Amino acid sequence: MKLSELLQEQELGDWRRTHYSKEILPTLDTKQITVMGWVSSTRSHGNIQFVVIRDRLGEIQVTAKRGECSDKVLDQLSHIKEHTSLAVKGKVRAQNRSPNGIEVIPTEVRIFSLAKQAAPFTIQAKRSTVGIDTRLDLRAIDLRRNFLRSTFGIRHTTLSSVRAFLDAKGFIEVNTPKMIATATEGGAALFPIFYYSKEAFLAQSPQLYKEQLTMAFENVYEIGPIFRAEPSRTKRHLSEATSIDVEQAFADYNDLMDLLEAMIKHIIDSINDKHRDDLESMHSTLPKIKTPFPKYRYDEIIDKLQAKGERIRWGDDINPQIMKGLSNEVFNGDTFYYIIDWPTAIKPFYVKPTSRSEKFCESFDLMYGSLEISSGSTRINRKESLLGNMKKQGLNTDMFDFHLRVFDYGVPPHAGFGVGLERLIMVLMNIENIRDATFYPRDIDRLTP
Ligand code: ATP
Ligand code: MG
Repeated sequence: MKLSELLQEQELGDWRRTHYSKEILPTLDTKQITVMGWVSSTRSHGNIQFVVIRDRLGEIQVTAKRGECSDKVLDQLSHIKEHTSLAVKGKVRAQNRSPNGIEVIPTEVRIFSLAKQAAPFTIQAKRSTVGIDTRLDLRAIDLRRNFLRSTFGIRHTTLSSVRAFLDAKGFIEVNTPKMIATATEGGAALFPIFYYSKEAFLAQSPQLYKEQLTMAFENVYEIGPIFRAEPSRTKRHLSEATSIDVEQAFADYNDLMDLLEAMIKHIIDSINDKHRDDLESMHSTLPKIKTPFPKYRYDEIIDKLQAKGERIRWGDDINPQIMKGLSNEVFNGDTFYYIIDWPTAIKPFYVKPTSRSEKFCESFDLMYGSLEISSGSTRINRKESLLGNMKKQGLNTDMFDFHLRVFDYGVPPHAGFGVGLERLIMVLMNIENIRDATFYPRDIDRLTP
């Protein structure tokens, strides 16, 4: 048979998977089964051809030996490349030399789509041997790497456990506009867009909307994209990130720090519960949680930094480079902790000053080592204070009329936070570059794929 005939691509037709790889156990010995997936590796040993097929749940070895299967099937399996999409019908055989104690003796192969060439990187190696850009250019294939498949499985569990946790506490999930008229956060720049004949922007955060929604629903959360035109190239900023935003009425920042701490604990417990196999195969463990998370006042941190000889002044923002040294010495390396009571002037206009002094505000950042995971605060719920703060920060209050007008109708005291999902995944999975914590990263140099 000619090679082109052997490797003819076929339709799915009436073939259906009977078992996932993981479901094929030695108890199925001698059973006829159909497996489907993609070729994760091939190996030949004289007259034996091994093809490992990977599916959503794991891997199964197909063993084609001359005499045990047709010559056609042996030829087909000898010529296919890694990544080819296919189905194999065959008989299960217990085999203690194969990786999961089982192999499939093929009787028929159906090739759905051939890999035409070798990928520019191998997906077997734990640490990639090529640069991240080469991988990102072919991200869908890169995502077949075990580490990344585990990472995104764990991301999924993170999100479902957040939802379960907040639902049980009486929060409802909301969605707020992503096309907006004005900026809500200082600092990071906006992405302008055409909105019919007007200029508009992509939302930097759901901040003002989630605050407004506490008026009707009290406790709300949103899991959605935030857009920030970050001009710098760092390993912790994306232009499009995912935020877990929470807002609660009749609560202050201390309540929200307790809530966030319990939420992080719940996430870690859920992952430990559901992903033991993933964690074992990656030889990794999740951060150990010590509650309550320690709280350090901004003042204390500045004193500690100055005592170390860092050039930082009261009123400066605290960046990770500066925090690095301190985090090892003072916070004992990798732990969650809060920095609280920041200067009012460097937090957004909606953050409530402390009753002790207008100079400080009821705010917190959740840190892990030197990385910021979340910012939260008690919010201002009275119009005059909000207007006052906006003017101090030099904002054009007319632009916020749509927001300020609801403050004439009894905004409850409220507090909230936003967690960067990708930052959290970086911490959980010990990922160095935030680009690996999202499916298709966007940054100043990348708008495809
Ligand atoms: P940073 O100081 O690290 O740039 P920020 O203080 O500007 O962050 P916030 O406005 O406080 O960010 O947003 C809340 C959370 O959203 C942050 O703690 C972080 O986890 C996440 N986040 C913010 N900007 C980005 C970004 N560009 N990429 C990824 N995550 C982000
Ligand atoms: Mg912040």
